[in-house]
Amino acid sequence: MRVTALAGGTGAAKFLRGLTSCMNPRDLTVIGNTGDDTEIWGLHVSPDLDTLTYALTGRLDVARGWGLADDTFRALAAMGVLGGETWFRLGDRDLATHIYRSRALRAGVSLTGVTNAIGQALGLRIRLLPMSDDGVKTRIQTPDGWMSFQNYFVREKARARTIGIEYAGAEKAVPAPGVLDAIRTTNAVIVCPSNPITSIGPILSVPGIRAALMETNAIVLAISPIVGSAAVSGPAGELMSACGLPVSPVGVARTYTPWLDLLVIDRRDIKQTHAVLELGAEPVVTDTVMTDHASETALARLVLETLA
Ligand code: GDP
Repeated sequence: MRVTALAGGTGAAKFLRGLTSCMNPRDLTVIGNTGDDTEIWGLHVSPDLDTLTYALTGRLDVARGWGLADDTFRALAAMGVLGGETWFRLGDRDLATHIYRSRALRAGVSLTGVTNAIGQALGLRIRLLPMSDDGVKTRIQTPDGWMSFQNYFVREKARARTIGIEYAGAEKAVPAPGVLDAIRTTNAVIVCPSNPITSIGPILSVPGIRAALMETNAIVLAISPIVGSAAVSGPAGELMSACGLPVSPVGVARTYTPWLDLLVIDRRDIKQTHAVLELGAEPVVTDTVMTDHASETALARLVLETLA
């Protein structure tokens, strides 16, 4: 079975690690969010693409959920001595990825091309595509004005009250080569357990992607990142509230219908099955919190069995 997944960073990385141990990675295409991409120290940083690449090649610092395992932060400390920006933490070995990417982009290579080159060099066995080669910037509106996603999330630690969200540049962006085909010509599309507003939202904002999800003959399944009435991690709950959505699997279903066929929800949300069904998605109830390799694999196996 060929699978195409839409993915953010940390939650997606856990699920996809499980998925690649249950299926041939060559049959998996992952479309990654680049709405969080940012420039730090003049370098192009793609946090979600890197989290996925590092996780699926066994390099991710699993405890932090970002960056390389066993990395050091001596360049960051040196930057601090110079009075430079240190709120966005870049590890020493991680820096090589950002320098490599930035140089390639400056030389005219597309983000698709450089993402592929990094994946090849690190032994990534899936096909990882950025959602677009064009810049789409997730911006958060707070009572003090608009800020970039990384300013909101990393520098301000997601403490500012959110009153609006936009995907700047989306209207002019085009899907990266291969993205629409990967949705149209696959057997199944999986929307990973990722932030619906700042990880999946930017992907859906790229013109043509929603239409491809509507048109595809593939089964479309999502895994709810909301368990009970909260996100498992990160600011998804606050951001969904700010968008007027209930912080629940029903809120997730509302974001993804009408193109969603199946929604995997946690056992503790079993009371919501009826409401999910009413929105047009068939609920699949299981344990969805992944805490180790066994739980990542169990969720992935259940998803593949459901799709089959
Ligand atoms: P973030 O919100 O910026 O951290 O962006 P991500 O898209 O990487 O978000 C992680 C999302 O995955 C969050 O909304 C979490 O609730 C969700 N998540 C993380 N771990 C798990 C898990 O083990 N199970 C489920 N169902 N969701 C998870």
